[in-house]
Amino acid sequence: MNEFKKQQTGGASHRVNAALFMVVSAPSGTGKTSICREFLKLCPNIRFSASSTTRPPRPGEKEGVDYFFVSEEAFREQIRKGTFVEWVENYGHYYGTSKEIMQDVLGSGGDLLLDIEPVGAKALKKSCPGGVFVFILPPSLEALKSRLNRRGEIPEVVQKRLGKAMDEIKEIVWYDYVIINEDLQDATDCLRSIYIAEKSRRERLTEKIGPFFE
Ligand code: 5GP
Repeated sequence: MNEFKKQQTGGASHRVNAALFMVVSAPSGTGKTSICREFLKLCPNIRFSASSTTRPPRPGEKEGVDYFFVSEEAFREQIRKGTFVEWVENYGHYYGTSKEIMQDVLGSGGDLLLDIEPVGAKALKKSCPGGVFVFILPPSLEALKSRLNRRGEIPEVVQKRLGKAMDEIKEIVWYDYVIINEDLQDATDCLRSIYIAEKSRRERLTEKIGPFFE
């Protein structure tokens, strides 16, 4: 190991991996799914980690692309087998992140985008250090209320979702980045900028820089 690598890695153990995983969280009604879709079109080198869920597919959602849609029984079995790096129950449905996808993609040097709510994101931050955590906010509380109302749910459901959104927003304090979604294009650019900047961190480029010191 040359001097540069020794300094950057502290010898061996404390290394930031070149491969990157980026976690995006946002309250429902914030436009996170659209931002992630646009971002993935612009950055084909980062792969979306499809979670497993027990909720039924929505129109247009594809098996293995948006989610792996499984029965509650199958999900429970996967919990028992230790399939998930984290999982939660959300609005009566289960959601979980596959340990295997994370290990395979990151282990082979690929980057991964995860769309996870804050409880699971926090668990992931603890068990898999080194991720980049991004929280997407609506432009204002009023905008969030009107977006939730536009979904055509009954007032009790809107109120429940708003309460949950407020609880989720409280978690923003430990996220690395915040994007305010005033405009889809700008918010997507912002997410792409975060990705590019994180990929350019010196610690991630140790392998590439090292040879210049030999
Ligand atoms: P939706 O049903 O609208 O697709 O997702 C509901 C919520 O579940 C969103 O906040 C989304 O980020 C979250 N979610 C999706 N997959 C996972 C997962 O694997 N783990 C956790 N903790 N949350 C997830």
